[in-house]
This record gives sequence, C-alpha cells and structure tokens, in this order.
Amino acid sequence: MSESFNLFRLQQLDLIRLKILSRQREIEKTINSDLNIQKAQSLVDDVREQLNVANQAYTKIHDQVEERNLKLKYTQAKLFGGQITNPKELQDLEAESAALTNYLSELADEQFLALETLEERQKALKAAEENLSDVKSQTATKHSKLMGEARQLEDKLPSVNEQRKSLRAQISPSNYQAYVDLLKSKGGRAVAEVIDSSCNACGVRVAPGDIQRAKSPSEIVYCKTCGRMLYAK
Ligand SMILES: [Zn+2]
Repeated sequence: MSESFNLFRLQQLDLIRLKILSRQREIEKTINSDLNIQKAQSLVDDVREQLNVANQAYTKIHDQVEERNLKLKYTQAKLFGGQITNPKELQDLEAESAALTNYLSELADEQFLALETLEERQKALKAAEENLSDVKSQTATKHSKLMGEARQLEDKLPSVNEQRKSLRAQISPSNYQAYVDLLKSKGGRAVAEVIDSSCNACGVRVAPGDIQRAKSPSEIVYCKTCGRMLYAK
C-alpha cells in the first residue's frame, strides 16, 4: 500500500466520521429545541390571553346590565308604586326610566357582540389546544424515528474508529500530523484524488510530473493550488 493511498482511505473514513458526528449533532439539536411545539404552544398562550380579555369585556358589560336593570326596577317601582304624587318628581322618574331603558338596549347590543367575540375565542382556544396536542404527538413520532437514526449512527462509529486506528498505524507520524493539520485548515478535506489529471478538490490541473510522483509508494505530493495531499491511482 502506498502512503498516499492510506492517507486517501483515512480521508474517506474521516469524511464518514464527520458526516456521522454532524448528523448526530443535528438530531440532538432538533430534539432539544422543537420549534413546532414552541410555536404551537405560543399560539395557545396568545389565544388564551385574548380569551381572557374577551371574558373581562363580557363580564364588565354583563355587570353593567345587571346594575342598570336593578336601577330600572327600583325607578319603576317608585314610579308606579303610588307613594310619589309630586308631578315633577314623577316626571323625573319617568325620564330616568326612559333613559335607563334606552341605555339598556344599547348595552344589549354591546353584550351580544361581546358574547360573540367570547364564543369565537373559546373556539379558537379549543382549536389551538387541539393543534398543540397534534403537533406534540407528531413530534414524538418524528423524534422516535430520529432517535432510532441516532442509535444506528452510534452503532456505526466503533467499526469506523477501528478501521481508522489500524490505518493510522500504517502511516508515518509526520505525514499523519501533516494530514491532521490540513484537515483543520482545509475544511475537513486534507487529501484530494487526481481525476482526469486535475485535483478533485480545487479542480486545477496537476502537472504530469506531480501525478507520477503522487503514484510512488512513499512520496507525498501536494496540490500546488489548494495545498492538499494528492492521491493518484
Ligand atoms: Zn487542489
């Protein structure tokens, strides 16, 4: 086995490891912060707050109606009770009774609208709560799949690590160190294959002499453009 081929295989293993690790992180993130649940919950909170406001508005009108009704009863009792005989006083009571009746009819309209709003928001809250419960159960299903995937990924790692270990033992320490340094500086890709006389990482042509040298069993040739180690079949 040539050194560059071993490094190339090491690179392939590291790409697999990187893919596994990044997918694991992604899964963890998804499970930890499920945006759909947060959104559905915040909708429930908003609608519940709106329902509270509608409830208060309705109660306020309802209390006003009760109070005015009581007042009207009292005024009419006085008006028709026969105790008051003073015409001026009776006239005032009549006027007050008419004003209260008027006001009560306005309040009845308001009360009707407030009740409508209240009922709408009660329905909206019910819908939002149902939605939240749906989203929660969907998320649980989704997450059970994700957790299964995470377990599968976890199972793959030991064999990849094992292969990596034995491969690493075949590579000279200085080349391994150069590889690790490149891995860090070149976005996780230290070794590039020469395909159709070009570096497969940066796409730039590689001189024929360099391709020949890259095929030798021990020499490591670097791409003159991107600086990666070259592997040529
Ligand atoms: Zn290159």
